[in-house]
Amino acid sequence: MNVHDSEKILGVLDAEGYKATNDPLTAELIILNTCSIRQKAEQKFYSELGRFRALKKKKPGLRIAIAGCIAQQEGMKITRKAPYVDFVFGPQNVHLLTKFLKDNEPHIATEDNPDIALHELPVIRNDRIKAWVTIMYGCNNFCSYCVVPYTRGRERSRPGHAILKEAAGLAESGCREITLLGQNVNSYRSDLDFPGLLREIDKIEGIERIRFVTSHPKDLSDALIDAIAELPMVCEHIHLPLQSGSDAVLQHMNRRYTYKEYREKVEKLRNKVPGIAITSDIIAGFPGETVKDHINTVNALHEIEYDGIFAFNFSPRPDTGAAEMDDSLPQHIKSSRLYEILAVQEKITARKNKSLEGTRQEILVEGKSRAGGKQISGRTRTNKIVTVETSDCTEGTLMNVEIVRARQHSLEGKLPKE
Ligand code: SAH
Ligand code: SF4
Repeated sequence: MNVHDSEKILGVLDAEGYKATNDPLTAELIILNTCSIRQKAEQKFYSELGRFRALKKKKPGLRIAIAGCIAQQEGMKITRKAPYVDFVFGPQNVHLLTKFLKDNEPHIATEDNPDIALHELPVIRNDRIKAWVTIMYGCNNFCSYCVVPYTRGRERSRPGHAILKEAAGLAESGCREITLLGQNVNSYRSDLDFPGLLREIDKIEGIERIRFVTSHPKDLSDALIDAIAELPMVCEHIHLPLQSGSDAVLQHMNRRYTYKEYREKVEKLRNKVPGIAITSDIIAGFPGETVKDHINTVNALHEIEYDGIFAFNFSPRPDTGAAEMDDSLPQHIKSSRLYEILAVQEKITARKNKSLEGTRQEILVEGKSRAGGKQISGRTRTNKIVTVETSDCTEGTLMNVEIVRARQHSLEGKLPKE
């Protein structure tokens, strides 16, 4: 979502005649688009920020702007710490950038923007084949650990016609895969609901694949499962963050589902969508997490057998409920729990990838592989990276390949003989 916000910032700048450069010394404007989901991202930002002071000294006309969730969260604190910053604007105020660029005054924009879903911003995309499309902004869930509802504001859905127009335009310009973006896509609601929106996008000529992130387990309806099962362009992959396998921890997190309810939804998904890949996020060492809670999470990983997970230690965030909870678990225990979670999942991922050896998979060719040589790379519908040795590399085409070897983070494929 943050990367796509940067694409919107680039779009606004492009409309103002700005061109991107990789050399900060030639830049007239530098924007840092920040993330504050965990403390580490925030620390990284403050250490980056110091470097810009020296640049501004060298080049007094240079303007520096801070965007994103840290901008929203810290507001004026940033300009107090770093008076050489010219603008600070949160994720709800990207549309104001045009105005800021025209004035020669400093600006701080952290207001709530109830009309955000109606502001159509230009977008500059790097990738021709795959595109992100925002369908909703903000979040109303207030999971107790999470800063997003504070930085990105209330849930607001973009009108269906605007999304469909953007998707049709993308298809026309050669885009083959669309990923619908929202903090909680399955609570999307405008003139259409989320399954209805998927049904409409599925009809757009040229779009071969539709993905969406992120789905909240409590809002995963039967209608959505049916849409994934029935619609040919909707890929067989869902990112469905569990966070913890313990009901007590889930309750403290304010996730509003039990592990049993989650499991039942996973069963339904697997029954209706054969071969669906399921991925997840896990937080290790949440305040008050006991050894038993942790074991429940590890057991959940064994039981569910995700295709992959993102796992992190709990990080207290300003203003959130969990920041006030007793976070006295020693760091070495938190780290060892995280390590165990990652190690258990690594084996499961390896086993799942191995089971694909000898199967045929459809990949969407994304381009030459980073490994170089004659290798191309693409993804399966289940979102696994496949590299193939071939001189035939047409970005954006669908190719059937045979999986010959599973590696930890990707698969190796070859062109089938017949
Ligand atoms: N809206 C999405 C994603 C939210 S942020 C969702 O609900 O799934 C992405 C992930 O970051 C979350 O799923 C969670 O696992 C992690 N995360 C968020 N806040 C965190 C915190 N304070 N400490 C550790 N991990 C956190
Ligand atoms: Fe954060 Fe929960 Fe909203 Fe996801 S659903 S953005 S974790 S508050």
